[in-house]
Amino acid sequence: EGWQERGAAATVRRETDASGQSQTRIVKKGVKDFNFGRTLGEGSYSTVLAATDRQTLKEYAIKVLDKRHIIKEKKVKYVNIERDTLNRLTEHPGIVRLYYTFQDERSLYFVLDLASGGELLGVLKKMGSFDVECTRFYGAQILDSVAYMHSRGVIHRDLKPENVLLDRDMHVKITDFGTAKILPDPRTSGAGSQEAPGDPTDGAGTDRAVSFVGTAEYVSPELLRDKNACKASDLWAFGCIIYQLLAGRPPFKAANEYLTFQKILALAYTFPDGFPDVARDLVERLLVLEPSNRLPVEHIQNHQFFDGVQWGKGLWQQKAPRLK
Ligand code: ATP
Repeated sequence: EGWQERGAAATVRRETDASGQSQTRIVKKGVKDFNFGRTLGEGSYSTVLAATDRQTLKEYAIKVLDKRHIIKEKKVKYVNIERDTLNRLTEHPGIVRLYYTFQDERSLYFVLDLASGGELLGVLKKMGSFDVECTRFYGAQILDSVAYMHSRGVIHRDLKPENVLLDRDMHVKITDFGTAKILPDPRTSGAGSQEAPGDPTDGAGTDRAVSFVGTAEYVSPELLRDKNACKASDLWAFGCIIYQLLAGRPPFKAANEYLTFQKILALAYTFPDGFPDVARDLVERLLVLEPSNRLPVEHIQNHQFFDGVQWGKGLWQQKAPRLK
């Protein structure tokens, strides 16, 4: 099984040659163009390293994937989904950007935005829980990013505080698109949230065989019931995240996955004492069993909980609130 260098990113550089003529050259980056530094983290099939572009001195995170391991474990499809979705989502500050991909005999390399602030989960664990101001800020940045990916025809399907990374300004960078679902491009097909019947990356065929995609605590009831995720499934997960930021724990949590699923299907969760009323109202409108009855993105943005939030560009120019 091989990897084609489909859509590999490259930089276009203008250079002046010996005769003084201006030339445009496509420069392809490779392993040799980076100085590799500390290990940022390890995944099941990958190691993520800090790296610096030798020429520009810009810092990146480079995800190094072991080809043999990926083929042996039949994860080629997921690696390709990750690359394809990231290549679709390059115009938003809230999504980890993929700059270049290249490979050598042993490994695939994804050159990504460096998220030096680590995972939102780590920050949350250190703080215990967030106050309303922090929850509003991080919630708004997550929602703005989700709105963008949905507008570009991508359903994340595994949103959770571990997959929300933070950059040096403590701004959100969503990652982990390996289990995402790519819908036909709404700009070319006009199909909205419709799934292409023959789409090899859709959830219907192959995903039915596996138990589920996602993480037990954030998985939506429709995925458990019908093995089908839609845009609203990400908004279920978003509701779980808002709850978790304020309460310090996810709404549905049990001793094992099976019991967690039972709780989700029964909508069996309660709010801790002191949970703010306005946030409670928002969560109750998101943690709704029927996906079509969940608050859509535009209505979430207009919910009282997000009063005063500047949606769009302004949200990303804002200084992150001090954690408390
Ligand atoms: P698995 O593949 O087992 O699900 P994973 O998705 O976390 O794990 P990776 O994407 O390889 O695997 O990430 C490994 C670790 O590296 C993560 O825990 C994450 O915190 C860190 N990491 C990933 N991407 C970046 C990044 N762009 N900047 C900084 N750290 C990152």
